[in-house]
Amino acid sequence: MSELLDKALGAYLGFAIGDALGATVEFMRPREIALQYGVHRDIKGGGWLKLAAGQVTDDTTMCLALGAALEAGGSSAIQNFLAGDLALVRQIGDAYVRWLKSKPVDCGNTCRRGILRYLHEGSLEGPYNPGDGGNGALMRNLPAVLATLNDDTAFARLALAQARLTHNHPFSDNATLGLGRLLRLLLHGGTQQDCQRWVGHWIAEHPVFSITPYRERASAYVVDTVQTVLHYLCLHADFESAMVATVNQGDDADTTGALLGMLAGARCGASGLPARWLERLQPATVQAIRQQTAALLALNAAPKPLGATP
Ligand code: MN
Ligand code: MN
Repeated sequence: MSELLDKALGAYLGFAIGDALGATVEFMRPREIALQYGVHRDIKGGGWLKLAAGQVTDDTTMCLALGAALEAGGSSAIQNFLAGDLALVRQIGDAYVRWLKSKPVDCGNTCRRGILRYLHEGSLEGPYNPGDGGNGALMRNLPAVLATLNDDTAFARLALAQARLTHNHPFSDNATLGLGRLLRLLLHGGTQQDCQRWVGHWIAEHPVFSITPYRERASAYVVDTVQTVLHYLCLHADFESAMVATVNQGDDADTTGALLGMLAGARCGASGLPARWLERLQPATVQAIRQQTAALLALNAAPKPLGATP
């Protein structure tokens, strides 16, 4: 397996691990988690969604919906999108509608409102809304990164287009772009030191996400989510330590866990993921992620169109 494929699988499977592990303690306070579990470190389902062990939530299934739309469109849909054709954005919107109609185990309010707006009005984004500062657009952006690894302009346009279908807020936009670029750095072999340096520079540009001092907030407000993820990512070089620390912060633990798992999983690769967690994920989820990761990476290898040649 190539190093890139191992790291991309590490990111996507790490994301699913964080979702499945964190969902058990979603919306709990750290003190409640400590009372009930000591340190929560096993994928066992339950939680407010009453999940089966190893079941993932909307975080992972929305990623798979975005990835399926990108895979179906192929590299030509991305090229057309970059040339100004918005068909791909509608295909992504349609994928979110199908996802919502599939009765997902959970769906955030802003995601639901945006998807229904697209369904009923056909608009590809709503107006700026101060209430759109949740983490729902950020959380599902992983496939946009995998599909545009060698082209930052393509990445930024695709990431914002998928995000704006449901969220129109500068903090959501900046977090989606920022964590996407950090993910790409790690997929290309970035080390823990590169990671810390990148985070320092990015926070200097976007001080709202500052992690010093860490405020110990892990809500679905995108600022809290990003601070928690970056704090533990920079604090722990090891996937398992970073993940356990993140989900035990509680609150939106499936989403902070998923995003931490994405970044730390890219850093260590699939071969570095703890086997006891990987083995607990539902086989259908692992299969879908493996298939989609390879398909999305293949979009980067497609030859460029020859232009004038008929
Ligand atoms: Mn969730
Ligand atoms: Mn969540």
